[in-house]
Amino acid sequence: MTLPSTYADRNCSLARALEVVGERWTLLIVRDAFFGVRRFGDFATQLKIPRAVLADRLKLLVREGVLSREEGPAVEYRLTPKGVELWPVVRAMMTWGDAFYSPGGAPRSIRHDHDGGLLDPGGRCERCGEPVPVAETRVEPGPGFDAADEGHDPVSDAINTPRRLLDPIG
Ligand SMILES: [Zn+2]
Repeated sequence: MTLPSTYADRNCSLARALEVVGERWTLLIVRDAFFGVRRFGDFATQLKIPRAVLADRLKLLVREGVLSREEGPAVEYRLTPKGVELWPVVRAMMTWGDAFYSPGGAPRSIRHDHDGGLLDPGGRCERCGEPVPVAETRVEPGPGFDAADEGHDPVSDAINTPRRLLDPIG
């Protein structure tokens, strides 16, 4: 699904990055992968994404090395080190959405799991001042969380329980 590139695109890394993760579903799949979703059916349940679209986007993310496809009792999609490096992008966009589109407060709070400190916009813990690695980051329902807006299925329930990033659900 590579878009036709223009002269300007070829000289802009943002344009090239957007060819991989610039589409709405793609970045939501990446977000869910940080939240511990790994299986096709779980992505489909949580995102309510058409299955053909999901299959297409997963294929793109695997081809680009953002996710790896692991064969096992069930096929799993996991963030690669390259994919994990998208965390600051996802976090920054969530923070921006909180600031401008969440009048009731952040639906999700992002904290340092070790001491419960909130992360500042630069990704440092407001309590201990340290930059917080992805695996030590906890996501939990925030002040603007509204259960009525959430799906009520096992995958959504797991995501809405305080949990560390990348810990697999279920
Ligand atoms: Zn801390």
